[in-house]
Amino acid sequence: MKAISLLSGGLDSTLATKIVKDQGIDVIALNFKSPFCMCDGRKRENCKSMAFEMARQLGVPLKTIYLGDEYLEIVKNPKYGYGSGINPCIDCRILKYKKAKEFMKEIGASFIISGEVLGQRPMSQHKKALEIIEKESDLQGLIVRPLCAKVLPESLPEKNMWVDREKFYAITGRSRKKQLKLTKDFKIIEYACPSGGCLLTDKYYSLKMKDLIDSDMFNLENIKFFNYGRYFKISNKFKLIVGRNEIENNIIKSLIKNGDVIYMPDKKGPIAVGRGVFDKNDIYVGAQICLYYCKFETAIKVKILPDLEMNILFNEKIDQNKVKLYFL
Ligand code: SF4
Repeated sequence: MKAISLLSGGLDSTLATKIVKDQGIDVIALNFKSPFCMCDGRKRENCKSMAFEMARQLGVPLKTIYLGDEYLEIVKNPKYGYGSGINPCIDCRILKYKKAKEFMKEIGASFIISGEVLGQRPMSQHKKALEIIEKESDLQGLIVRPLCAKVLPESLPEKNMWVDREKFYAITGRSRKKQLKLTKDFKIIEYACPSGGCLLTDKYYSLKMKDLIDSDMFNLENIKFFNYGRYFKISNKFKLIVGRNEIENNIIKSLIKNGDVIYMPDKKGPIAVGRGVFDKNDIYVGAQICLYYCKFETAIKVKILPDLEMNILFNEKIDQNKVKLYFL
């Protein structure tokens, strides 16, 4: 008997995988990455891929699926709305379960394991939401939630005794106490991830993404680009980023493309890059903002890629209040 476990690498999904695996089920872990996942071990130093670490600890194979344009569509237009940021949790879960179902068929697995805990997340883990998610992903009865199975109706694998319901739990709510105890019992070492999580739940990040959506600039290339630096909305169609340190400056440099406006301080200072549709005034405002973040009095050279260099030197400082006008 094979099953797929949705493994984020967090506490709950790790425990759920372990509980079912220990019943002799052949478990294959499935992990999803999106442009908004902070914990993928590539973007930030010291941030391990939790799913990878946990799959290794549990001794299960891991498959990763990258969600791209179709994920952006649900972020733009979620059928079931947003959470505290622009996190479309119910739609996100539906998409992931649909993908899991495809994978389940592909490898001949019989059901899906989830670490969901009833009542733990206000948006996507209440009873009604769990029902919607199962129905929309056409997986009714095929999702096993070992941590809270005893407070939910029996799933098909439980009814058919493919798994032993008696060995499942009745955990509900937001407290993690019971899960932490189980972690100790199972001798699972939790890997802390200082920057793990979904960026879409972050209020500031959500404002930035909402601005890109409203400006019709929400695509994979721009999301990657605007993930770095300080973000400024200069106009509805023209945005600016200013590097915060040398690492960011270098990353921003590596992501520029033709049509971008680059601001280069004559003396040491941050790199700033504008992207979108602009007029002369927008270019001027961008230069002022870049100048604001220079430690020394300097002039700013402006270049529009690939080869238009403007012979305008900006050296006029502006005050912080004006900068804030453009800051999202
Ligand atoms: S927090 Fe992010 S990754 Fe998690 S369900 Fe919500 S949208 Fe999806």
